[in-house]
Amino acid sequence: MVKVSEAPEGLDGQGFFATQLDKVVGLARANSLWPLPFATSCCGIEFMATMGSHYDLARFGSERPSFSPRQADLLMVMGTIAKKMGPIVKQVYEQMAEPKWVIAVGACASSGGIFDTYSVLQGIDRVIPVDVYVPGCPPRPEQILEGVMKIQELAQNESTRRRNSDEYQALLNSYNIE
Ligand code: SF4
Repeated sequence: MVKVSEAPEGLDGQGFFATQLDKVVGLARANSLWPLPFATSCCGIEFMATMGSHYDLARFGSERPSFSPRQADLLMVMGTIAKKMGPIVKQVYEQMAEPKWVIAVGACASSGGIFDTYSVLQGIDRVIPVDVYVPGCPPRPEQILEGVMKIQELAQNESTRRRNSDEYQALLNSYNIE
């Protein structure tokens, strides 16, 4: 028998079960995230290791990296982001369809890291909203995997109505994103 991980209660055995649409949609979304790797420097190498056979991000349904924002729902920003690059990160984010999630991978993407200088963005949350921050310089692939698993948790438990809420709109407005 095929064992489905985290299957809703009642899936096994006879009869039928009822569940909520939110739960089914959440289960599907959480296990089919398509990452867009926005890698500018060393942390990107850790992402390559995360995609490799040893750590194998494919186990989480994310084996298909997307280099087109329109076919991605998880933006992974890895590396130092110069201020000049900020508007590009924002444009990529805006081109992604809802629902979408963002991970800041490593110290540079999260806070500018060691580059406390005039030219480096002190964290990508200056230009786009971030869901999960992965610490480290660089973070190990295990940490990146944990970041993805945190996003899975968020995706699985998110209400299908959240993206239409006033709070979410206010969050986007605070970044001047329509
Ligand atoms: S956090 Fe460290 S390893 Fe990652 S991009 Fe910055 S300097 Fe490189």
